[in-house]
Amino acid sequence: MTLPGRTYAPKGLLEALTRVRTQAEAHMDHHDRNGLVWSEETVSEIAIGAGLPFVRPIPFNRRQESAVGADWLWWWLDRSSQECFGMLVQAKRIKHEGKKWKLDVSHGSGEQQLSLIASAQQLEVPAIYSVYTGGMVMRQDLGCPHRLPSPCSACIRMAITMMPAFSLSPAWDQDALAKLTFAEGVALEDLGDPLKPAALVKDVNFRGLGDGELRNFLIEEQTGPREVAKKIFRSVSTRRAGHKSAVLTRPVEVAGEQVFHDMPGDKGHFPAAYYPHVLGGLRRNPPNYLRDIMAGFEPPAEIARLSAGVVLITS
Ligand SMILES: [Zn+2]
Repeated sequence: MTLPGRTYAPKGLLEALTRVRTQAEAHMDHHDRNGLVWSEETVSEIAIGAGLPFVRPIPFNRRQESAVGADWLWWWLDRSSQECFGMLVQAKRIKHEGKKWKLDVSHGSGEQQLSLIASAQQLEVPAIYSVYTGGMVMRQDLGCPHRLPSPCSACIRMAITMMPAFSLSPAWDQDALAKLTFAEGVALEDLGDPLKPAALVKDVNFRGLGDGELRNFLIEEQTGPREVAKKIFRSVSTRRAGHKSAVLTRPVEVAGEQVFHDMPGDKGHFPAAYYPHVLGGLRRNPPNYLRDIMAGFEPPAEIARLSAGVVLITS
């Protein structure tokens, strides 16, 4: 489906994301069927290359020795408009033990998540978990959370689910974290699917937004990187609705190439204000280091210290 006036062509991108999921699923299912263990690192490496040429991993050669973990900086880029949306992504897997589903984000007494969020804040992008929920072999007992004959197409897509780190507290029960991810995460493919629009996001701070561009963004249909940002924001906004009601806070001013410059400072129960955390990743054009990387240059040391590489996602 091509939207008039746009060169962003989601069909090729969606098919690429489907190939990534199918590849991940085949690996997870094969291992689960045969009682073998699989890890998030292996799934990532096996699956991501299936998305070429629309999904392109660009590892940094000069990895800094102090680099933390294997977090990848994903950039969704519309080459025609140059608008882009970034996210710092850490892979996690769900486990199924007895009747319990487990998603563990408590590594290092929560230090790993703090570090992911701190790095994301430095990079001015949201911190996101790419959660491998297993294929239908592992989830055969789950039932369909979408209340359809199981497995429905959404169940199949759930194999790779993107979940904002803000929404998952390391202090919570692992079964609850897994179920929250099933309910509020966004299937990777849905991020590239124009038939799954974010639609109207009625955020708890909606009334305080005034009549500006940010309010229109939450109301109107979006495409490309804007729509990816909106779908991630919708997930965080859904979690925010479960906290106490909106409180009047000073707006946060963001300077730079971001699409939105004045955003609500409300943080609910999150570690920081959620509007700038998520929507600060939406830019009118790529940061300089991304231009350099796309031109074949190594990134500055501070970028290589914060991530293992860039995954460039274009249409
Ligand atoms: Zn389902």
